[in-house]
Amino acid sequence: MLTVGFIGWRGMVGSVLLQRMQEEGDFRDIDPYFFSTSQVGGEGPAAVLAAGDAGSHGTVRKSRPLGDAYDLAALRALDCIVTCQGGDYTGEVYRALRNDGWRGFWIDAASTLRMESDAILLLDPVNRDHIERGIAAGIRTFVGANCTVSLMLMAIGGLFREGLVEWVSSMTYQAASGAGAAVMEEVMRQHEVLAGISSRHLSERGGALAAESAMRVAVTESTFPTTQIGVPLSFNVLPFIDKMVEGGRSREEWKGQVEANKILGTTTIVPVDGICVRVGALRSHSQGLTIKLRRPVSLDEATELIASSNEWVRVIPNEKGETLRALTPMAVSGSLQIAIGRIHHLTMGPEYLGAFTVGDQLLWGAAEPLRRFLRMVVAR
Ligand code: NAP
Repeated sequence: MLTVGFIGWRGMVGSVLLQRMQEEGDFRDIDPYFFSTSQVGGEGPAAVLAAGDAGSHGTVRKSRPLGDAYDLAALRALDCIVTCQGGDYTGEVYRALRNDGWRGFWIDAASTLRMESDAILLLDPVNRDHIERGIAAGIRTFVGANCTVSLMLMAIGGLFREGLVEWVSSMTYQAASGAGAAVMEEVMRQHEVLAGISSRHLSERGGALAAESAMRVAVTESTFPTTQIGVPLSFNVLPFIDKMVEGGRSREEWKGQVEANKILGTTTIVPVDGICVRVGALRSHSQGLTIKLRRPVSLDEATELIASSNEWVRVIPNEKGETLRALTPMAVSGSLQIAIGRIHHLTMGPEYLGAFTVGDQLLWGAAEPLRRFLRMVVAR
């Protein structure tokens, strides 16, 4: 049975990965080992391996004590390593293992290795052929792509497949959980403080404005929780994610073009650019898309192509009630569906399409492509 080491399993992506693997019965076909960077020797995720996740030989497996995620000898013994720990960990461990001759499958959620020539980006509903060819050719490094890139390609893959996209601008609304568990917890703590203020003022006449101004004072106080984010995210939007790179772009914005084109395997670059914004939503990323098509395309044809992108795309009619009911982070979170709506021609002309899409970045934007790839490795 394939031995698989999991690192970063208690973070946002790792937790969702384990949950999905459990739902799909994936643990039946592998021999899992869990590691930690902070709790070595502690208890592994026992719930994951509880009844229902019996090994293929029929016995219920017990979780082993957590291994040391930096123990190269232990890692070297594995057929496969799945890491959702983050870029620093990948940077420290990956090269050391490879330099030591380890030829197992390295499956990673972090961005560190994405643009390496010997790494393939995972988004099998879009690039399954490429992934399969890579495995057959002996590639052993497979990396999940940036969450907004994956969600955008899942949403409008049908337009790309037909070669219709000249360029795309994506304005993102990225949820707090996209920045990790600690940030998500902090935004909830920020919310608690601010909710306490609003509850004190709302019963007064003009209470909403009084609460709003008291909150603006509260967020400047030293006790306001901002250790992770540095600023208030609750009731706020932050138009900068990650660090500055060239051209006035943030690294998150830079990833849009390079990763989308790598997944699509384009020979001529399709420009992808926009502004990436962190918002106070807890889970699921939204994107407002401006798509420049290579020729005028009727709304019916565009909608059909979008709907045919893959089995998870769900086109929401461009009308207010359905949009507000189904095209929001809260409506989409926890689901594999990729919602896309507000599809219409923009006033600039019949080659310009506007659309709004929402997808759970912890599922299709992170854990699900990794999980599905692991199944491909098991089935080899
Ligand atoms: P995360 O939630 O911060 O978890 C990463 C690790 O941080 C955990 O495995 C845990 O390691 C440690 N940790 C520290 N404080 C924690 C807490 N309060 N709760 C749980 N774990 C905590 O990171 P992530 O969002 O899952 O991201 C992992 C990687 O995937 C990153 O490279 C990220 O860029 C990438 N990614 C994330 C998303 C997303 O939507 N979040 C999407 C695509 C890609 P120990 O158990 O060893 O202490």
